[in-house]
Amino acid sequence: MDIEKEKALWEKTEAYYRSTVKDKTDLDQIDRHFPQFKTKHFVGTELQIGVDNELQMDFFENYIQPLTNALRVVGGEEFASGTVRFTLAERHENPVFAAEPPKTEKASNLEIPGIRPFMNRPRTGSGSSMKMDDNYTFENFVKGPSNSFAYAEAVAVAKAPGRTAYNPLFLWGQTGLGKTHIMQAIGHRVLKNLPGASVCYITAENFLNEYVTALQNEKLVNFRQCYRKMDVLLIDDVQFIAGKTQMQEEFFNTFTTLMTAHKQIVMTCDVCPRDLKNFEERLISRFEGGMVTEIEAPSVETRLAILKFKASSYQKIVPPEILNFIAENIRSHVRALEGALKRVVAFMEINPDMPMSVETAKKLLHDQIQNEQVIKDLSVDNIQNVTAEYYNVTLKDILSEARPQNIVTPRQVAMFLSRKLTTLPLQQIGNSFKKKHATIHHALKTIQDRLANEPRLRSDISEITVKLGRSPSEIFSDVGTDE
Ligand code: ADP
Ligand code: MG
Repeated sequence: MDIEKEKALWEKTEAYYRSTVKDKTDLDQIDRHFPQFKTKHFVGTELQIGVDNELQMDFFENYIQPLTNALRVVGGEEFASGTVRFTLAERHENPVFAAEPPKTEKASNLEIPGIRPFMNRPRTGSGSSMKMDDNYTFENFVKGPSNSFAYAEAVAVAKAPGRTAYNPLFLWGQTGLGKTHIMQAIGHRVLKNLPGASVCYITAENFLNEYVTALQNEKLVNFRQCYRKMDVLLIDDVQFIAGKTQMQEEFFNTFTTLMTAHKQIVMTCDVCPRDLKNFEERLISRFEGGMVTEIEAPSVETRLAILKFKASSYQKIVPPEILNFIAENIRSHVRALEGALKRVVAFMEINPDMPMSVETAKKLLHDQIQNEQVIKDLSVDNIQNVTAEYYNVTLKDILSEARPQNIVTPRQVAMFLSRKLTTLPLQQIGNSFKKKHATIHHALKTIQDRLANEPRLRSDISEITVKLGRSPSEIFSDVGTDE
């Protein structure tokens, strides 16, 4: 499409979109935002809008849907299934980028020095060791009680691959908690210490694709040779090969060969080996043969530490109360934390004259916080009930003024858990217990002090937390841990 036509189509799209916006403040926003769209460019029926950086790409995401609708309306039949995408502006200057496949595919087909490409195939084909993210290093990983075991084991493995008891190292946990990050940190560290080492990072999905391609092209011998000569094999998201019997067989053999040769294997997974469905028993028991470690959801303190760390890498100063607000409200996983922080920073960048207040952050992150609450928020009611049941007392006891120790402890534990596992202010927690704010405060301090000396209390609280579907690491991070 020539430049004039591109320009005209963009103008029509923008005009149409504006005509659909009724709210004055929304229009003001568009006035502020749209001038920041550096380039507009069509690749086929995709409108690519170039912006300065990734923060903006994220931030402007909300415009994709309405602009797509507008494009489809004004573009006629030719653009009936047109799309809109934000890209980095400088890329448009380079025609090579325009023809490039979308980002998700790109990441998987590049090699980095030190990682041997698979079968020397050209980059366009599937497969080879995948490019690791340069930022996924140990230095960029924030340690906390929720990940400290995984971290320590990973460091040990990176120092002496294949020569520790942690072989294979099996890291598991929910999505977004840093499994891929830690795994790649091992890869980076090994390559730094042992530049000649063969390190392969690959997702189980790509591993499977490699395998299938090799089968089809009768290159199975090459496939085997390639993987079986690795010094360190990092396989991400192994759950992906569930139900793939033949692949599992192949993997089992690769696995055995590498283990026999004292080569290092590291795997990540979304569940622990025992909970893998449709996996061969012998593979599961191999997975369990080294070290199996869970990465848990970070506590509020760790979340804050991660945010501080990430914030320091942006050029903007994010006020501490904003970081606190994000840490307290975004709890599901680290990726969500990063997303929230990016949103705030992008907003600050785009609206330099507006002060960033908790109120603004609240509005900005409204949807995200709501999602979090749907998944995560517990009610004080629920905490009171589960705690009462655990201690064999009644809800009425918990809410009463009675002072015998066998009632005071459950009551204070319930208060403590309400503080740790909800984002409610003390006042509101107090109301739910029909107690004053100061009473809650006293309870928190009492439990905190007792925890330092009473392992029994700690294990009780852990158990109740698990019954509530949450992780003990969320509550114990600031009262010393067992490590
Ligand atoms: P997973 O593989 O478990 O789904 P990732 O490793 O992709 O999670 O992590 C998601 C994002 O969160 C990444 O950007 C990663 O750098 C970041 N992250 C996770 N845990 C930490 C941590 N402890 N310190 C710093 N960044 C972290
Ligand atoms: Mg991952």
